[in-house]
Amino acid sequence: MKDLHIISEQTIALPKAAYQARHFINGVAQDSADGRKSDRISPSHGVVVSQAALGSDVETEAAIKAARAAFDDGRWSRLTAKARGAVLNKVADLIEANVEKLALIETLESGKPISQSRGECGGAADLWRYAASLARTSHGDSHNTLGPDILAMVLKEPIGVVSIITPWNFPFWILSQKLPFALAAGCTCVVKPSEVTPSTTAMLAEMLVEAGLPAGVCNIVLGYGNPVGALMTSHADVDMVTFTGSTAVGKMITKTAGDTLKKVALELGGKNPQVIFPNCDLENAADAVTFGIYFNVGQCCNSSSRIIVHEDIADAFVARVVEMSGRVAFGNPLHHDTQVGAIVTPEHAAKVDGYVRAAVAAGAEVCIGGAVLTVPGLGGQFYQPTVVRGVTPDMAIAREEVFGPVLVVLTFRTLDEAIALTNDSAYGLSAGIWCDDVHTCLEFSRRAQAGTVWTNTWMDGFPEVAFGGVKQSGQGREIGSYGFDEFLEVKSLVMRIGHTRAPWVKKA
Ligand code: NAD
Repeated sequence: MKDLHIISEQTIALPKAAYQARHFINGVAQDSADGRKSDRISPSHGVVVSQAALGSDVETEAAIKAARAAFDDGRWSRLTAKARGAVLNKVADLIEANVEKLALIETLESGKPISQSRGECGGAADLWRYAASLARTSHGDSHNTLGPDILAMVLKEPIGVVSIITPWNFPFWILSQKLPFALAAGCTCVVKPSEVTPSTTAMLAEMLVEAGLPAGVCNIVLGYGNPVGALMTSHADVDMVTFTGSTAVGKMITKTAGDTLKKVALELGGKNPQVIFPNCDLENAADAVTFGIYFNVGQCCNSSSRIIVHEDIADAFVARVVEMSGRVAFGNPLHHDTQVGAIVTPEHAAKVDGYVRAAVAAGAEVCIGGAVLTVPGLGGQFYQPTVVRGVTPDMAIAREEVFGPVLVVLTFRTLDEAIALTNDSAYGLSAGIWCDDVHTCLEFSRRAQAGTVWTNTWMDGFPEVAFGGVKQSGQGREIGSYGFDEFLEVKSLVMRIGHTRAPWVKKA
């Protein structure tokens, strides 16, 4: 404990009252018909910071009905892309004007540091602007070489009503990876945020109204996966589901949505490795490994929770990561300098600790951390920065998504071994390599089974660059033009010029 950098003070006061989050259905903010609500207790401060309406089938049905009607009457899909883009750009402006409000509740509900919430909420505006630009540049194909009397076109059309289901770890960012792209395509939506972080999604409703989004185009239902999410994925009036969350729930959704053959896009878990060669910028690599595991307390789909380090440098490299781990500022998320905050729920904190205990019992060695972190004056939902060595590839801690600040160390001797360890996973979200030899980087990039490969960097992302996973990390892509295309259906149009079609029925 004495070797850690812990911040207990805070520079921002807790709000005086809990935020009241309501559903937003057909343009109207509303409570549940039965009046049910849930309290969200802040993971860092242990007090109720929001109260959210708890939806049932009644609100979910109403939201789907509103989205279906709004899609079918063309109040959004038949607007010009210019008009749709203008609304999305206005939402981006409003997000920027409300960053402080959004960031504070995001921090209070999730436990993440305020500086990170500001970056996440403010940065999301760029996703809305990028989606607005895609609305105006989208087009299909024309085929002008099929013969003098044939002209064919491939049109892109909005897929219809989209259910958007999001997790708790980046509530506003992940919402913004989906919703503006669906809207840019001309779809209408029903959105359900995680029950533990509902408020920033609820706050967005006011901005949608102010920006001029027609009623019914985006509807928000708050509540649990069952019944709200379950109905959003089974209802016959929904055309597509886009889901970010755990692999287990993703599999369930695929089965449910299969009954009505909805399109399903899934962004799921990961066990993402960084491979470290001796001939790289080792200082930068150690920093990226430290960032990759502690950012968002390791509660990122993209957390780099495994490193595969060359045997020759393993001892020195791990020592450097351990030293850096002690300098990362863990603690009160309401202090400007805090880099790492609280774990989202007590159950999740216990699960993280369980992985470490099981690894130690199986013979692994904890180099730093490995226990609950006590931040003076705050609740007990913090976990120490943790590095575990002596791990074998078959241990649960090396294979499963721990989703906490826990790094495991594996070693290799040859590129083939490093690639085999990289691909020895049910997941395939992202992978990285640190090496100064471009040939090694290229070979690794081509052979790594992952949706994203980073070379000599980690977790750099851009709205223009598609994101998604292979294997059990998901299906479909998000952001970039590929992500936008997920919300579009393709229609082929074949036209004959003149009366040249040869009759099929013989003349009488
Ligand atoms: P989760 O799967 O428990 O919940 C995600 C959402 O699904 C929540 O809104 C939840 O209420 C809802 N849900 C639960 N049961 C449902 C059901 N039966 N039908 C429909 N919806 C249901 O995930 P979580 O704990 O909120 O988030 C953590 C997980 O998300 C991790 O596994 C993480 O890797 C993953 N994640 C992936 C990405 C990515 O882009 N690949 C990004 C962020 C998080």
